[in-house]
Amino acid sequence: MAVTHLKIEKKGAESIDEYLEYERIVGGDDKGKLFTPSQYEKYKKKMIPIRMNNRLYVCWASLKTGIECKQVGPETKCFCQHRYKQHKSDFEVLPTDRPFKLPCEELGCRCRSFSYIPRNGSQSIRCTCKHTTEEHSVVGAKKCQKTSCGCKKFYSQFTCGCGDPCSNHRMIIETKEERLSRGKPVGRDVPYKAMGGLTGFSSLADGYMRMDASGVGAPSMEILEQPSSMYFSFIFIGSVRFYLNLSSKQGVCLFKEGV
Ligand SMILES: [Zn+2]
Ligand SMILES: [Zn+2]
Ligand SMILES: [Zn+2]
Ligand SMILES: [Zn+2]
Ligand SMILES: [Zn+2]
Repeated sequence: MAVTHLKIEKKGAESIDEYLEYERIVGGDDKGKLFTPSQYEKYKKKMIPIRMNNRLYVCWASLKTGIECKQVGPETKCFCQHRYKQHKSDFEVLPTDRPFKLPCEELGCRCRSFSYIPRNGSQSIRCTCKHTTEEHSVVGAKKCQKTSCGCKKFYSQFTCGCGDPCSNHRMIIETKEERLSRGKPVGRDVPYKAMGGLTGFSSLADGYMRMDASGVGAPSMEILEQPSSMYFSFIFIGSVRFYLNLSSKQGVCLFKEGV
């Protein structure tokens, strides 16, 4: 009896590992209907080389200091309220036009390119017209959609952790070569969808908390020495993503990303 129980536990842990790996790779591209093993193999054959070769690095940086205050990850929300992984992030051929456009792929959403907007804890921030992010259009200058409001452009004085108002920041979307030429870290190549600017654990902390502008910080040797598959094991509890060290088999939470 005890033996059977142990077997189930081990198999359970393996299938959770496999599922997490599947989620990280597919990131919703199955539209909620699990791929069959052959569909999954075909998907990986097509997408993984694209991600290895054509990854785009995405962050939100202060115009004044250049600090990269937010490294965008798969679960980071856009102004349109959809997550980065719901936007186009895989390019078979990288467009030559700049800036890159990463349109939202959710049905009916008019968002033309991923655009990070900070939140105030769990609250969405307000424009100077007093209406929230969601009450503004996702296109153009993002005018207010409240009928009686004449606001033509979303503008917030909300202060980022770096001390600059959020309106004084911009999106940076760049290739690996472009990022390297600016002297910024690119981390290691990963097969996962919509990794954006995540290059290691410390990318998840806000720029001013990392105490460096690079996005890589100084992870402990323990983290550096783990096999790469341990870096991005995560689960959701509510809307908070917990990063787990599955190698310890105790599921230790190493980091959490509020989204
Ligand atoms: Zn959207
Ligand atoms: Zn969007
Ligand atoms: Zn308004
Ligand atoms: Zn407004
Ligand atoms: Zn900032």
